[in-house]
Amino acid sequence: MSLFSIWKRIAVALLLVPLAAPAQQHFNGDKALEYARQFVAIGPRWPTSQNHLKAEEFLRNHFRHDQLEEDAFTASTPIGAVPMRNFIVRFPGKKDGVIVLATHYETNYPLRTINYLGANDGGSTTGLLLAIADQLRGKTLDGYSVWLVFFDGEEAIQSWTDSDSTYGSRHLAARWGRDGTLGKIKAFILADMIGDKDLDIQHDTNSTEWLVDLVRQAAKKFGDERYFFKREMAIGDDHLPFVRRGVPSIDVIDLDYGPNDSYHHTDKDTMDKISSKSLTIDGDVFLETIRLIDLR
Ligand SMILES: [Zn+2]
Repeated sequence: MSLFSIWKRIAVALLLVPLAAPAQQHFNGDKALEYARQFVAIGPRWPTSQNHLKAEEFLRNHFRHDQLEEDAFTASTPIGAVPMRNFIVRFPGKKDGVIVLATHYETNYPLRTINYLGANDGGSTTGLLLAIADQLRGKTLDGYSVWLVFFDGEEAIQSWTDSDSTYGSRHLAARWGRDGTLGKIKAFILADMIGDKDLDIQHDTNSTEWLVDLVRQAAKKFGDERYFFKREMAIGDDHLPFVRRGVPSIDVIDLDYGPNDSYHHTDKDTMDKISSKSLTIDGDVFLETIRLIDLR
């Protein structure tokens, strides 16, 4: 062996060292983005619209081989009775108890006059939960059961008040309060508007503090702390009906969308504003948070 080839071998060995280090397994944000793209392609999907029925059909078809429950109800709104429908998908676990992971999927009724797509708001987190379902399907989970919930009617029909907003979550929390389901829920985790390319998740002060700590710990594992909890805000969202009933709950939300929030509830909320990278961070952190809750 020549000196050259020895050096060559050493060089090759040195190059291989970093490759041999254990790779961190990451969530498939590309898949989440692709699901979001398919879902958002339905178009604006406000309650009472034909596209809303298509959005329902999309979820029904996607989860046709899973334990899907459709929770249809009639919401009393400023425009009268509106048919709405939550979707609940159950993935059973070995431990006694449930972790709920939720999003809303519809777009705003008042924005039906513009081409409002809700790519980030409703679309991105629907894609995220579809990709998370891919990780949960086909096995009994070692920890708690995980239920994915797709809420209808999060957005106001006219303008946001306690009674004109969060129709789906208020309906389901009340029903699960009556039938005893709430007592089984170890944690309720809500995802909203976190497909944003410029990810900046607020610390919602209505959320349960130990869950905020666990999410922070999960983010730390992936070196993603910088995207989380730099600013404090009290946020009204689909978690509140659960918070009010004593369920440990967190809203993982980025309420700062575009320059001066200019993409929020405007026709600028389109697919080009959300990223696979942000969805990878979300998925990593949610799956790790579930693991940490299971260990609690
Ligand atoms: Zn919204």
